[in-house]
Amino acid sequence: MSRRNKIYEGKAKVLFEGPEPGTIIQYFKDDATAFNAQKKGTLAGKGVVNNHISEYIFKSLADIGIPTHFIERTSMREQLVKAVEIIPVEVIVRNIAAGSLSSRLGIEEGTLLPNPLIEFCFKSDELGDPLIAEEHILTFGWATPEELEDITHYALRVNDFMSGLFAGIGIKLVDFKLEFGRLYEGEDEMTVLADEISPDGCRLWDMKTGEKLDKDRFRRDLGGEMEAYKEVARRLGILPNADITEFADHQNKGK
Ligand code: UDP
Repeated sequence: MSRRNKIYEGKAKVLFEGPEPGTIIQYFKDDATAFNAQKKGTLAGKGVVNNHISEYIFKSLADIGIPTHFIERTSMREQLVKAVEIIPVEVIVRNIAAGSLSSRLGIEEGTLLPNPLIEFCFKSDELGDPLIAEEHILTFGWATPEELEDITHYALRVNDFMSGLFAGIGIKLVDFKLEFGRLYEGEDEMTVLADEISPDGCRLWDMKTGEKLDKDRFRRDLGGEMEAYKEVARRLGILPNADITEFADHQNKGK
């Protein structure tokens, strides 16, 4: 692994040059961060579970015609993806009020929203990913009007699909974050879904008990993070028997 060219190391993933030009390997770490990395921890096996959950969701989205960067999972912690230029906007879709929406606007957590609400944040760790309007995106050229139209269209389709997927396994999809990229193929340029979709970037509540099955367990010191992530994977029919702690996070060894 050390002989590969590292392109970028983020909070939860490392990106390496892929085997072919225009490809990238996403390596899923066990590191967990919250509150713009002010809170840090390690959740043994998280990278393995998130790699598999994200694979499952990206493949399912491709099956319903949503273009994504995903090519294939290549190991327990890695997946091969197409290299894209990330659009510097985090796209948040909300079905139920929680988190920053509740604190910002005083809407009680758990309030069902009459329609899915899409919010945009400027991707900047330095600035703490501030909430922005569509007008900021267009004014500063972070995305073109056509890209913004694609992003909104795909975000709502992803929401419809994932709401149904999770409802089918007894989980409410409260909110989630998406990232999109520009894929260049010859003369063509298209908007594709990128990054990952996992309990790190979603709020997932058990329908019967209301139990949180996502990163809020880490953010709010509730404990049982890995049990919750594994429960999501188990209900999706992923990794039913694997002892994920066997697959050590070599990336972080010797740090
Ligand atoms: N989210 C994320 N990365 C971020 C910010 C938010 O994955 O940098 C996800 C978060 O997990 C939640 C949703 O987006 O599912 C909405 O997050 P919110 O704005 O409520 O912020 P938070 O409460 O996480 O600070």
